[in-house]
Amino acid sequence: MQRTDILGVGFDNVNMAEAFERAEALLDGGSHYIVTPNSEIVYDAQTDDALRGILNRADLVLPDGVGVVKASRILGTPLKEKVAGVEVAEALLSVFARRGDSLYLLGAKPGIAERAAEKMTQIAPGLKIAGTHDGYFKDDAAAAAEVRASGADAVYVCLGSPRQEKFISENLGAMGCKLAIGLGGSLDVFAGEAKRAPKIFIKLGLEWFWRLLRQPSRIGRMMRLPKFLRAAKKEARRRKKEAK
Ligand code: UDP
Repeated sequence: MQRTDILGVGFDNVNMAEAFERAEALLDGGSHYIVTPNSEIVYDAQTDDALRGILNRADLVLPDGVGVVKASRILGTPLKEKVAGVEVAEALLSVFARRGDSLYLLGAKPGIAERAAEKMTQIAPGLKIAGTHDGYFKDDAAAAAEVRASGADAVYVCLGSPRQEKFISENLGAMGCKLAIGLGGSLDVFAGEAKRAPKIFIKLGLEWFWRLLRQPSRIGRMMRLPKFLRAAKKEARRRKKEAK
């Protein structure tokens, strides 16, 4: 399926239901990974060839940010909607439980993954958690070997970007899972450590603003959002000129 190019990163133009369906299909065989870039990551990928390659080689690339959706409209190739990685992650839990596929949780501060696991088994009774590990390790190969030893069918990798994408790309084979997904701060959300924005913020496309209010230290990384939108406008002008 053709992807929608946003400043060098190709996104799958899917809504939440389609994303979920495509993710489920990836459990049928082989070894796959899903990425959920927001505008900060796409902005960085413009100058990080390795990261851009990793994003573009993913089996599913979901627009996890209103900035990305906004840029797609500026570029005249609108994406259907923001697809929040954490929502796909939650929807998949019942699929794992039904299929008997086990899930490994890798990332976040010590103790968080265990609490997230508890919450997940409440959401999807019967879900098998193969294992958990915090995200503050130095030895990537050892962490990947632990995932493999657990026999996990799927792994949620929550190390923040771009570390999680690079980890997945380098260790997918070593982990031996059918599916790996890079999910940023999602384990904090499941554990109740971080709250998602109230629905009205999400609906108005202001979840980023909510996160900034809760965590003002994000301002540095968020300054990439206006730069990202300016880059999209510039690219739109370039494309128009080229089309003439
Ligand atoms: N994290 C980690 N290892 C690290 C750095 C970060 O496991 O070396 C975790 C951090 O605890 C948090 C997540 O990665 O749970 C990143 O969260 P953030 O909100 O920054 O991610 P975003 O969803 O914005 O990419």
